[in-house]
Amino acid sequence: MSLDGKLLRQAIERLNEEKLARAAKAAKLRAMVYEKHPRVREIDAELRSIMLDAIGTAVSGSLDVEREIDLARKRSLKLQAERSEILAAAGCRESDIDDEPNCKKCGDSGFLGAKPCGCLMDIYRDEQRKELSACLKLGQETFNTFCLEYYDNVKDQTGVSPRETMSLIFEKCKKYAREFRKDSPNLFLSGGTGLGKTFLSTSIAKVVSEKGFSVVYDTAVNIFAAFEEEKFGRGSDASETREKVHRLLNCDLLIVDDLGTEMLTSMVSSALYTLINTRLINGKKTIINSNLSWDELDKRYTPQVASRLKGEYVVLNFCGRDIRLKKRELI
Ligand SMILES: [Zn+2]
Repeated sequence: MSLDGKLLRQAIERLNEEKLARAAKAAKLRAMVYEKHPRVREIDAELRSIMLDAIGTAVSGSLDVEREIDLARKRSLKLQAERSEILAAAGCRESDIDDEPNCKKCGDSGFLGAKPCGCLMDIYRDEQRKELSACLKLGQETFNTFCLEYYDNVKDQTGVSPRETMSLIFEKCKKYAREFRKDSPNLFLSGGTGLGKTFLSTSIAKVVSEKGFSVVYDTAVNIFAAFEEEKFGRGSDASETREKVHRLLNCDLLIVDDLGTEMLTSMVSSALYTLINTRLINGKKTIINSNLSWDELDKRYTPQVASRLKGEYVVLNFCGRDIRLKKRELI
C-alpha cells in the first residue's frame, strides 16, 4: 500500500495543529486553575523541582542515591494526591490541564521510528476520504443504492437479459472492491452512456479508499490536461501539477472516467501510453470507464495502447438502455 505524499503531509500538519490546539487549551485551563487554586501552582513548581533534584542525585554518585530517590518519590506521590484532590473538588480532570499526549504509543509524534503510527494513519485516511469526496462531488453512489430494476429483464437474442448481465457485473464489482489487493486485475468498463459505469466505479473507489489504499478518480480530460500542464510547465503552480501527475502514476487505484471523450492529439496518445504503461510496470491498478467498445479502441488509439489495454485489462461490457432516461419515464 503506497502512501500519498501530499495527503501524508496534510495529515502530519493536522496532527501537529491538533497537538498545538490541545496544548494551548490545556495551558489556558491551567492558568485558570492556578488563578483560583494557587496551591496547585505551588505543587506543580515543587514537583518540577523534586524531579530536577532527583536527576541531580542520580548523576551525583552519592552513596545514598536509593534512599534519596525513594524519599523524593514518596514526597512526589503525596503532592500528586493532594493535587488530585484539589482538582477533583474543583471539577477539573487532570488530563485536561496536564497536556498529556493523546496517543500513548507515539507521544503524538505521529511516528514509531520511520513507520507512521495508527493515530497518524487515522487522520491520513480521513484526508483521503475528503480528497476522494471532493473529486466524486459527494455523490450518493454506493453498492447499497445501486438498483438493478432499471435494467430490462427481457432476454435478448443471446438468451440473456440486460438485468442478468448487469447483476453479474454488479457482483463482480462488489467482489473486486471487497477483495482489492496488489494483484487485483485492471478493469475496462465498457458501454454506452447512462448504464452505470460511473456509478459502480465510484462505489468501488469508496470501498477501496476506506480500506486505506490511495485512490484517485478523475475524468480522462482532466488527467490529460494535467499531463499537458506538466509537460509545458503551464498552470499556476508547477510543483502542484508535478505532484498531481505523480499521484496519477503512483496511486494504488486510479479510476479514469470517460476515456474516449478527450480530443485526441499526439500529446494525449503519448500521455495515455505513459499512464497505462507506468502503472502496469509499478503494479498499480487502474479502472477505465469508456463508451468505446473493445474494437473501437483499435481505431482510436495507437496499436501499443490498444494492445496494452487488451492484454492487461479485464473488460466488463455494460448493457441495457440509458437508465437516466428510464428513471425519467418511471417518474
Ligand atoms: Zn500515535
